[in-house]
Amino acid sequence: MDEIILLKLGEIVLKGLNRRSFEDKLIGNAQRRLRPFGKFRVYTKQSTLYVEPQEDSCNLDGAYEAMKRLFGVVGLSRARACAKDKDAMLKTAQEYLGDRLSAARTFKVESKRADKTFPMTSIQLSQYVGGELDELYPNLKVDVHHPELTVYLEVRDYAAYVHADPEPGAGGLPVGINGRAVSLLSGGIDSPVASWMIAKRGIALEMVHFFSYPYTSEEAKQKVLTLAKLLTPWCGRLMVHVVPFTAIQEELRRKCPEELFTILMRRFMMRIAEKVAERTKSGAIVTGECLGQVASQTMEAMKATSAVCSLPILRPVVGMDKEEIVTIARKINTFETSILPYEDCCTVFTPRHPRLRPLPGEIEAAEAELDIDAMVAQAVEGIERIKIDP
Ligand code: ATP
Ligand code: MG
Repeated sequence: MDEIILLKLGEIVLKGLNRRSFEDKLIGNAQRRLRPFGKFRVYTKQSTLYVEPQEDSCNLDGAYEAMKRLFGVVGLSRARACAKDKDAMLKTAQEYLGDRLSAARTFKVESKRADKTFPMTSIQLSQYVGGELDELYPNLKVDVHHPELTVYLEVRDYAAYVHADPEPGAGGLPVGINGRAVSLLSGGIDSPVASWMIAKRGIALEMVHFFSYPYTSEEAKQKVLTLAKLLTPWCGRLMVHVVPFTAIQEELRRKCPEELFTILMRRFMMRIAEKVAERTKSGAIVTGECLGQVASQTMEAMKATSAVCSLPILRPVVGMDKEEIVTIARKINTFETSILPYEDCCTVFTPRHPRLRPLPGEIEAAEAELDIDAMVAQAVEGIERIKIDP
């Protein structure tokens, strides 16, 4: 195999995080993501993660695409291996980076020499290859300060490697390095985006979906599972906890004022989410709530729903416009699925005149009619766990 993938590590360099655990987590995540594409050796050296195919059958295109979605990586490039010889490196640069060399106007060559027995210094090597390329490509001018293209030459133990500037990576922190959270996944646009944003900060997710069969269809559930699947290239393997929610909704409809229905329902979602968090050792609850979109997303409503649980509620899209959320949804490829027209459990029971600002005591009075613990316990008992592999 004469081609490898180089990944530039992210924020670790700036943050006080433990470098070793950052790298170990990243290597583990990379290895799991690479599994479908063949056998690879993965290791770090000087803020770079090396991904080396170990057999000819490795699918390097697939591996590269997977690595683009790996949180913790700020940039990535493919590199071509060649003999540790100045003319071999020059020829490889021409063959491998020909298109970019023809397109750029300014360039420089930067060399690194891990093998100290190599007969030239890195400056001599850069000067030689840079000089030759300058002559070979009339479009190119050397600019050592702000080049459009940098050609990198690395002389390492077993081979030399040639590559160009990295493409942007997924950014963020390796999933799992900052613990675990429960994410409430509906079939809408916002919650997959919220989940993605929190995973990006290094948090492993447990997905929770409230399912109101037969008010919502089997297709609506499948849609949520599809959304979870679309998140796995970023989040890794996911568990979706499907909570049977119909009994609670029916009980609320029987016993509580219709105007409070949405807020009471959301309080049950939070209570159940907290139970799932306990079981999965999660430290927070994530939602796709956004201020002011709908009646249940006023500050007062958020206060009323937050009041029933003690874990922090992370609402990463709270201050975003719909358009900004949609931009991310398109980028992470969840948008087309999110807009499929299946009803969700909230729309089925939406009150005609939802109370925007519940009065003090009103919610407690309504809930006094309910056996909350039994309702929550029964829902938790009925949870179906569905594992979603990348
Ligand atoms: P989304 O686009 O994420 O569905 P939304 O704008 O439709 O959000 P709501 O329906 O009020 O807003 O829901 C707010 C948040 O509550 C959702 O983003 C999600 O995190 C959670 N949520 C709502 N319905 C469900 C459900 N059936 N299962 C799991 N979580 C839900
Ligand atoms: Mg929704």
